[in-house]
Amino acid sequence: MAKSKYTNRRRIIQAVAMIMLLSIPLRLVCFDLENECIRVFGARFGLSTMFYPLFTIVALILFVVFRGMSKGRIFCSHLCPMHLFLEIVNSPKNKTAASRPAKVWGWSVFFAVLSVEVILSFFQPLDNQLRLIASGHLPIIGIASALFLGFLGLFVHYQEHFCKKGCPYALIQMLLQSDTTRYMEFANPEKTCTNCRGCDDVCPMLLRARFESKGTDCTNCNLCAEACTSELGEGNTLFLLTDPQVESGEAGR
Ligand code: SF4
Ligand code: SF4
Repeated sequence: MAKSKYTNRRRIIQAVAMIMLLSIPLRLVCFDLENECIRVFGARFGLSTMFYPLFTIVALILFVVFRGMSKGRIFCSHLCPMHLFLEIVNSPKNKTAASRPAKVWGWSVFFAVLSVEVILSFFQPLDNQLRLIASGHLPIIGIASALFLGFLGLFVHYQEHFCKKGCPYALIQMLLQSDTTRYMEFANPEKTCTNCRGCDDVCPMLLRARFESKGTDCTNCNLCAEACTSELGEGNTLFLLTDPQVESGEAGR
């Protein structure tokens, strides 16, 4: 399937987001309790300058929320590890494969461990955590186990249901949504849809893309538009990312 510019850009942003997440377990970004400072890729921010990285994080969160008002659930499709997980386990290849349960478990363990370590390693390096666990330190054993089981449950059991019904960001996005928010439009004016269901098969959120892409569960990932391009040919896709306030100028960017 030919990748659009939009998807290539989304993949780059997803890769950067994953690198940023991995930088925490690798202690490139962390809170150094011993020296009372925050470390960010070699830069050290002590008590008097700690607000620089903290304000940057707050500014980034506000920026994503602000962009979400006009671009829809781009946090989900561009930054969230759960979306990446769903793109893997709900891909057309894996969706119906006999090996899907094994893949779900494998990827769930990977993402659950990563999520736990993103939280714990921000405060304690991995070797310290392992030393404390080995010495029977109950608080860290309890916190690590609870976080791991919680994340594992999300990935193994809830998957896209969590994105639709339980995710706090989805709730915030619902409140931010307006008539001017970008949505994925499906239009079939010349009845060229072949009912191949390629758009449904590729949807990581398991939506019936033709009927549900305008809803709040759609993450504007653009995969259905690409699947339709593969079926109908370049320029003939029946899906289009649409910006209501600038429909004539910027739709589909
Ligand atoms: S409907 Fe299309 S754009 Fe929306 S989540 Fe599914 S594949 Fe992505
Ligand atoms: S991919 Fe396109 S042609 Fe195939 S079912 Fe979906 S809308 Fe119809």
